[in-house]
Amino acid sequence: MRAFKTESKKLLNLMINSIYTNKEIFLRELISNASDAVDKLNFKALTDSSIQINPDDLAVRLSFDKDARTLTISDNGIGMTAEELEQNLGTIAHSGSQEFKQEHAEHQGDDVDIIGQFGVGFYSAFMVASQVRVVSRAFGEDSAHVWESDGLEGYTIEDASRESHGTDVILTIRENEDATDSGLSERFDTYLSEWGLRDLVQRYSNYVRYPIQMMVTKSREKERPADAGDDYQPEYEDYQELETLNSMTPIWKKRSSDVSEEEYNEFYKASFHDWENPARSISFHAEGSLEYDALLYIPAKAPFDLYSRDYQKGLALYSSNVMIMEKCAELLPDYFNFVRGIVDSADVSLNISRETLQHDRQLRAIASRVEKKIASELVSLRDENRELYEQFFENFGRGLKFGIYQSYGAKAADLADLLLFWSAQQEKMITLAEYAAAMPDTQKAIYYAAGDNRERLAKMPVVKGVLARGYDVLLCTADVDEFTFQAMRNYQAHGLPKVYEDAAAAEAARKAQADGAEPELEDRTFELKNVASGDLDLATEDEKKDAEAATKEHENLFAAMKEALAGKVERVSVSARLAEAPACITTEGALSLEMEKVLARGPEADAGELPRSQRVLELNTKHAVFDKLVAAQAAGDAERVQLMAELLYDQALLVEGMLPEDPVAFAQRVCELM
Ligand code: ADP
Ligand code: MG
Repeated sequence: MRAFKTESKKLLNLMINSIYTNKEIFLRELISNASDAVDKLNFKALTDSSIQINPDDLAVRLSFDKDARTLTISDNGIGMTAEELEQNLGTIAHSGSQEFKQEHAEHQGDDVDIIGQFGVGFYSAFMVASQVRVVSRAFGEDSAHVWESDGLEGYTIEDASRESHGTDVILTIRENEDATDSGLSERFDTYLSEWGLRDLVQRYSNYVRYPIQMMVTKSREKERPADAGDDYQPEYEDYQELETLNSMTPIWKKRSSDVSEEEYNEFYKASFHDWENPARSISFHAEGSLEYDALLYIPAKAPFDLYSRDYQKGLALYSSNVMIMEKCAELLPDYFNFVRGIVDSADVSLNISRETLQHDRQLRAIASRVEKKIASELVSLRDENRELYEQFFENFGRGLKFGIYQSYGAKAADLADLLLFWSAQQEKMITLAEYAAAMPDTQKAIYYAAGDNRERLAKMPVVKGVLARGYDVLLCTADVDEFTFQAMRNYQAHGLPKVYEDAAAAEAARKAQADGAEPELEDRTFELKNVASGDLDLATEDEKKDAEAATKEHENLFAAMKEALAGKVERVSVSARLAEAPACITTEGALSLEMEKVLARGPEADAGELPRSQRVLELNTKHAVFDKLVAAQAAGDAERVQLMAELLYDQALLVEGMLPEDPVAFAQRVCELM
């Protein structure tokens, strides 16, 4: 018996005692080794004319014996000499496992995760097998050898026989284990069943270039005897057939012109466990210093767990047709977390670790291209099939908005044009570009109102006031909307008809256009403004003058009202945004009333003090109620001014969808007035 090298022993120990739930990846590893061995022989034959092999014969074969509990993975590849058996299986000299060892040193106790992220290689067989025999005959040699080990202390190498070149890896599969306190139950029998092996091959090795074959039992109807009567019952018999389990040519390696939409959709549904066709399939091939194929899907519906904590984003990562990782998170930004798909690059190492992934320049380059591609495909979807896009947006729009918010607006340039909002004027979902294109020349900002109900928002006095000026208002009902707008601050619209500041220039342009000149276009940037906060700058010069005069004239009234509302409002002022209502509450500073409400629903609410918006009571000086206020003030009826101030404040809160701070007092005041 030869002893394993210390580092091999550590690794083996880890494998055997692994509580890693994904033990099934051992098959992927062994098949990948077999396929590599076949590849090496194939390559040798291609480069050496003295070697004659029939490429059609090259294959990997699986077989199992339930009674003996053995699973065999055979290949007719390059094989190994006795020295190579010793070298390759007795020590971990090869790069992949070396890397593993280093990684492991830094992550003591973290092995569950590590195994999942690595191509862990040959030793992973010991996760499911109590005994491993490797019978191998190197190409061009007459004799074969067998390497054997229980994975504990060491291994033996002895002479053996094998009909021709290639390798058999024979695993003695462990007995099933019931769940214990320290571990999950293990159904090792799965690896001794036709369906279990077929499933594993299709999941992990479906696109291995060589056929992975297995003798399977099938059933067929026996031939009907010539003398069978009318009451003949068909008889069935079992028979054996060699079946190729994998599909070999990856769909993403095919030219998209050779694949039907149907095929793409079927592949999507089978691979990503969705019932519905995707909203869009995207396939592309990158060439140059870094070559890869990508097949991406935008689902039509959100998976049920998309917004849960457990949801894992990521694309499947393949290298040379072998799946390295089911969900490589590094390939997708959070706001495209709903995208499913595959990236396959021969340039990515099979033994790449999660650590190196994060720093991998190649991977980052792929991720950045993938991101751009998704964004541009979404733009196409938006322009080509608006209905489908709106459905997509309903499902995934929140993530896009969140992307802008989380990046503090840095991603706004990429994502803003993918957003849709409800237009109060047009009564449908529109983009910001469409909003800008429909603006009158005089409009200086993009206006929005935030709340949880579209109908209520449409009726809000401040919304009506802005609409009355001919300006559209976006009615935002998602809790993230306002945070997104604040992160964006403004929106740049492209290719709008030029607005001429100076009358002569405007006239000249009008003439030129009348003579057939193309209208001049320009990009314009608009601030995003909540109709209920800050200064909207809506008033005309005349209105501003009137407001100033009114503020002066009623200085005492405003002061008295502010006093009556001490602690509730910062100011009482003349409103430029009201059309019909007597008063409204607006806010100053970053926090709006709506955001205050959103925060009150969130986890911050339980943590204690919530931030409070700086409120302003704005009055409509053209409203009859204002005249009554003025009259009460003139009559020196301080009590009535106080009563009216409180009532106006409370009813403005109600209109905002908030309760008066003291509903009982509010009701009493209403009665008093009656
Ligand atoms: P890796 O595949 O990353 O090199 P493994 O632990 O999977 O690491 O395999 C170790 C080595 O053993 C391989 O590099 C290869 O040289 C050899 N080997 C394993 N399986 C086979 C096989 N079926 N045929 C030929 N060589 C093999
Ligand atoms: Mg390997």
